[in-house]
Amino acid sequence: MPAEAPVTVHPAPVCPECGHLHDGSTPAPLKRARRLWARRGAALGLLALIVVIVAPSQTYRFAFSGETIPRIVTPAFTTAQLRALAEDLPAPAGLANGVLQASEPIDPGQPGRRRILVGFVHADIAHRQSWTFGWPTPWLACTRSSFYEDAVRGEGFIPAVTDSQAEVYRPHTLPRDARRLPPRPRLTWERASLIWYVRPELTSGIDISTSFSPLALAPAVVILFASWFLAGVVARRRGVTDRRRLRRARLIASAGAAIILIAAALMTAKTEDHPLYVMPGMTQVGMPPAVAFSYNGFQPLPTDRDGIQELAARGHDGDVRLARQIIHDTGSTNLDDGKPWYLASTALIETVVDDKQSLSWHPRALPFLSFSRATYLRRPEFGPGQYVPADRSLRVRWKDDWLLISFAPGSGPAYRLGLNPELPALLILFMLVGAFLCARASSRLFRARARRRTAAGRCILCNYQMLVASIAPPPPQAPAHDSGRRD
Ligand SMILES: [Zn+2]
Repeated sequence: MPAEAPVTVHPAPVCPECGHLHDGSTPAPLKRARRLWARRGAALGLLALIVVIVAPSQTYRFAFSGETIPRIVTPAFTTAQLRALAEDLPAPAGLANGVLQASEPIDPGQPGRRRILVGFVHADIAHRQSWTFGWPTPWLACTRSSFYEDAVRGEGFIPAVTDSQAEVYRPHTLPRDARRLPPRPRLTWERASLIWYVRPELTSGIDISTSFSPLALAPAVVILFASWFLAGVVARRRGVTDRRRLRRARLIASAGAAIILIAAALMTAKTEDHPLYVMPGMTQVGMPPAVAFSYNGFQPLPTDRDGIQELAARGHDGDVRLARQIIHDTGSTNLDDGKPWYLASTALIETVVDDKQSLSWHPRALPFLSFSRATYLRRPEFGPGQYVPADRSLRVRWKDDWLLISFAPGSGPAYRLGLNPELPALLILFMLVGAFLCARASSRLFRARARRRTAAGRCILCNYQMLVASIAPPPPQAPAHDSGRRD
């Protein structure tokens, strides 16, 4: 259109061709187009997410034997305290519950009888604490490990140092000596998280790393988006059409949601003590296929897990009986080297995992989906090594921010599907952003065309020339019904 085109008002507000009333309100065809483009945008967002995550997707397979790592029972019991409890003298409460908690099996679907192993260990290990922040999913986590001669009492702090001779840190590997840490970059990108590591030389010998997970922010961003969108819907229902007022209502709603999200994050931020895991020596028991390992120095209790649950229900009386059983069966009274020995416990389950195929879908190293299939064999301590079918079950649980659905038909292996909640949140986020951008673009294009047509004195919908020629000379090539009409 030439720049000198006349800018005029319509002589008649109603288009004689299509009957559209030019009163400045949003025309119905624009609303329809916006809705259509919002749907197309959502589909495009979905497609974009699939392209982003599927293209470089990786699957990992790993094997897992199903042994539960022993840990120090909390509250902690020294040999002396157990002896006192066995004689019904003053001692900490909660022995049976502590033993049950420390021997919780990793995989609740593992079939077979459950016994409990107990042993006594020194606590010359790290005390690990995590602080997490973020709601509904935590996106910031700080882990501190402090090494002690006695981590239960927090006595005899041993500062950690960087072992410059060691190989550079790799994820999921443990240093041989937890007090001599491998060199590690200050910032690393590890499994969809940005990890900030501070050398122990700068932290008085404490191992500190902070991880920020941008993906875990997705649910919060979805909530912000949803409040922005809903505020617009509510305001329109109440008859607000002015764009500035609409924008203000949306901004207020999103700001309110942001404040609620931050408040919820502050209220749910917490510091957690990690269990005090110990790693005793292991001895192989049994021959293939039923290979299992036993922890050196650990003895099975004669009462199985169910029996100890009954003892726990009996309170102090049950604790006293359990203390007597532990002392009797482990000969703990013989231990004495000047340092405290603490009660540690783990599960002894009738079966071992024979074959666990785990498929984890880690697109761009983001753990989204996992699927596993496990078959079980009887441990040698419980009889001949035969396959044991997983108990018929369907279990849904929430663990470590994963939704886990376990299923066993009762005649063979157990299956488990894991779903990271960040995936649906990302899905909604991509679709919302796609819908928003496309609806906005369609609206912008429509309004730009409407401005052009208004300037040329045409109907904004059907492009009908509504101007009387005497007001201004008609712009060149402007027939009454031109072919520029578009849907
Ligand atoms: Zn018209």
